[in-house]
Amino acid sequence: MVAWTAGDNVFSLRGGVSRLTGEQSSVRINSIIAVRGEDRLAHRRNIPPLTNRELFRRDHHICLYCGREHHDDALTRDHVKPISQGGKDHWSNVVTACRRCNTHKGGRTPEEARMRLLAVPYIPNLAEYLYLRNRRILADQMEFLKSQFKQQKHRFQM
Ligand SMILES: [Zn+2]
Repeated sequence: MVAWTAGDNVFSLRGGVSRLTGEQSSVRINSIIAVRGEDRLAHRRNIPPLTNRELFRRDHHICLYCGREHHDDALTRDHVKPISQGGKDHWSNVVTACRRCNTHKGGRTPEEARMRLLAVPYIPNLAEYLYLRNRRILADQMEFLKSQFKQQKHRFQM
């Protein structure tokens, strides 16, 4: 099922011990493996779950209204189109905002509040999401994920 492999790190995974030979099975795999075939869960995984942690990382911990970088505890999830106006709690409608800007914006759209949005919110693809989660990702896997990112150029209007 393996189409190709990449990455410098090779892992040895040990399996069970054969009752006949007494030998333990082991598999050596590269840190990056492309697998043939269709991913039947792909459509469900296309939209990663929305959490504040990954949202703040997506926006580089920068408030998308004032442009200042903040610690997580000073940041909030802002709904660009407010929930009270029918806005969705979805990647494409949420941005990182500092408490001050979020309070100032209140239940208004950026236009109504006369606040300029510095970047357009986007839905991270799977590679971007794994990068945002940054859990147990090796350096060469990180490079591979970055190469799978969408074009960044039209995202930031700054
Ligand atoms: Zn702000």
